[in-house]
Amino acid sequence: MSERVSTAPAGPGATAGRVGLGGAAGAAAPAGAAEAAGSVALGGAHGTVGPAAPAGAGTVRGAGRYAPSPSSELHLGNLRTAVVAYLAARTEGRDFRLRIEDIDERSRVAIAERQIADLAALGIEWDGPVLWQSERRAAYAKAIIHLTELNLVYECFCSRRDILDAPRAPHGPPGGYPGTCRSLSAAERARRRATKPGALRLRAAVPAWEVFDRRSGASLQPVDDFVLRRADGAVAYNLAVVVDDAAQAVTQVTRGDDLLASAGRQSYLAHLLGLGAVEYFHVPLVYNRQGQRLSKRDGALAGAALFERYGGAGGVLGGIGQSLGLAAPGERVDLARLADRFDVATVRLGKWTV
Ligand SMILES: [Zn+2]
Repeated sequence: MSERVSTAPAGPGATAGRVGLGGAAGAAAPAGAAEAAGSVALGGAHGTVGPAAPAGAGTVRGAGRYAPSPSSELHLGNLRTAVVAYLAARTEGRDFRLRIEDIDERSRVAIAERQIADLAALGIEWDGPVLWQSERRAAYAKAIIHLTELNLVYECFCSRRDILDAPRAPHGPPGGYPGTCRSLSAAERARRRATKPGALRLRAAVPAWEVFDRRSGASLQPVDDFVLRRADGAVAYNLAVVVDDAAQAVTQVTRGDDLLASAGRQSYLAHLLGLGAVEYFHVPLVYNRQGQRLSKRDGALAGAALFERYGGAGGVLGGIGQSLGLAAPGERVDLARLADRFDVATVRLGKWTV
């Protein structure tokens, strides 16, 4: 097993704190401060088990999860990812969690409820209560306080335009934040704060972080001084997802492969918060005949219209199963049948055009 990362920072934020997965992030003070960050290892090649969780915080066998944003109904691509997440978790003995990522202002409770109903209609069962991000603001605030105490947070007053126009650091990630506000004096911050509120950014000590993906293996993914809390006070997705995965004892994150590029930022943040590393399983997206990723524009392939088109849950699962090489054309299946045929190591995961 190779070391987890070779670009580890020094300093107080660099403790390898695999302290536990279950608690609120702010409570997870790193233990073993002298331990080198490089010793943070994934839980073996198959990464199935995190550190022992505190009593009452879940099981030691870890969990997979699905975490939709309720801005539109789940389409066939979303459901395929949910099914793969479920099968990847259950066939290796993990729990499975459901979380509604409704901190976005476009979120709608009614849509979330239809998403939950569609997942249940496919036979997906989850452990524990559904976690709603809109109810988690205190946990996010606690994590930001914890990072602030470690001197890992600074205010940024840049507009989108300022960031685009700023000179690039030679080795910074494309589109990454160039560090403009990193070293503002207290007086300068006060002057700017009087004009407009600032966002909060992470003071990152590394340009990249190694993540492990069950499909593509280990890779270095970019890290920059990404936003933790926006100027309008909204918590950033990268922070919420890390805090919530820990609170739900998640050890395996299955999701669309458009998110692989943000996995380094999230893993690095989890490390700084003293939370366990997760393994990833990034799944190709589904495309329409025009070659575009399925989206809310493809309404005929979402929600009730989708179930009708495929003749119910058995047909939807059959179509998804066929795309994974787990069902014959036209075959109707249930999740148990797919689970019998599913192997995370060999499942055929290609780009799927519908
Ligand atoms: Zn700035």
